[in-house]
Amino acid sequence: MTNPQDLHLEPTEEPARILIVDDNPSVLAALENQLGHAGYEYISARDGCGAMDILKNTSNICLIISDWVMPNMDGMELLSRVRQAPLLENIPFLMVTGLDSTEDAVLALRKGANDYIKKPYHPEELLARVTNLVRMWAFEKKLHRQATFDELTGLYNRNSFRIILDTEIARAKRYGNALTLIMFDIDFFKKTNDLHGHLAGDLVLRHLGAFTKKQVRNVDYPCRYGGEEFALILPSTELSGATVLAERLCENIRLLTIPVSEKDSLSITCSFGVTEFKVSEDDFDSLVRRTDSALYASKKNGRNRVTTAAFGKS
Ligand code: GH3
Ligand code: MG
Ligand code: MG
Repeated sequence: MTNPQDLHLEPTEEPARILIVDDNPSVLAALENQLGHAGYEYISARDGCGAMDILKNTSNICLIISDWVMPNMDGMELLSRVRQAPLLENIPFLMVTGLDSTEDAVLALRKGANDYIKKPYHPEELLARVTNLVRMWAFEKKLHRQATFDELTGLYNRNSFRIILDTEIARAKRYGNALTLIMFDIDFFKKTNDLHGHLAGDLVLRHLGAFTKKQVRNVDYPCRYGGEEFALILPSTELSGATVLAERLCENIRLLTIPVSEKDSLSITCSFGVTEFKVSEDDFDSLVRRTDSALYASKKNGRNRVTTAAFGKS
């Protein structure tokens, strides 16, 4: 997992769909019928080109069932393209091969197909293989989600923070894009836990995570950096813009009333540090360190405030 775009694979409401690819209309219709009866959602294409178009525009494809021999782009070429595309490479692939084609089947498996079935196949066998492959997809998706997002807040976790920031730093270096980092920490959170209990504290963290997500653009990356400390990675954002966002967040968080039980609600404040990545001087560590120092300055100067650290002035 090295591409931050991968990390955008958040839980989606869209139902998982099987992509069926076959140039023969009657085979396609039979497959649609079988899968539909078994309760699967599906989408169909007549060749590899059509399948690639669908894959580019559709999320949540949970399995590709593809015929091998087709005009324009055959099943093997489709398999190879899918396995080379960062956002598609983990989609299970079931290759449909001709009768007596063990060599072909082995080749398909070697090239990255997860399974194959020989024509003519028994519908029950096809469905058994489909069930296994879709189950594998769902399991992998669940693991991916757990490895990427913080369970309590739903924001990117510390590991994702590291991957995303590394990648955005490389992008800023290569293309000269602006990049800013905001870190913020809840003030006197220990007291909240001591006075109201850890469950109430957890509710506050959850509420703050959801609120933060709503306050940023969907190209920004809200992360839970640690216990009660959060980070926002803002690609293509200048220091002035990031400071405005941090000031707005600081103010809006202060105005929140967070319900923690049927009769109690709490207010919190946060302290912020904001810094911009300086292409010629910075690396990951120096950027995080400078942002952290700015946050610490906010704490030292009375909390509930934003400190912006321009390069060379921290
Ligand atoms: P400061 O204003 O200096 O940041 O004070 P603070 O009390 O917020 O900071 P301190 O580092 O002393 O305490 C952090 C607290 O955050 C202590 C810990 O119990 C709480 N905390 C960290 N992670 C979680 C969590 O997942 N759930 C809950 N309920 N509390 C957490
Ligand atoms: Mg704190
Ligand atoms: Mg802290």
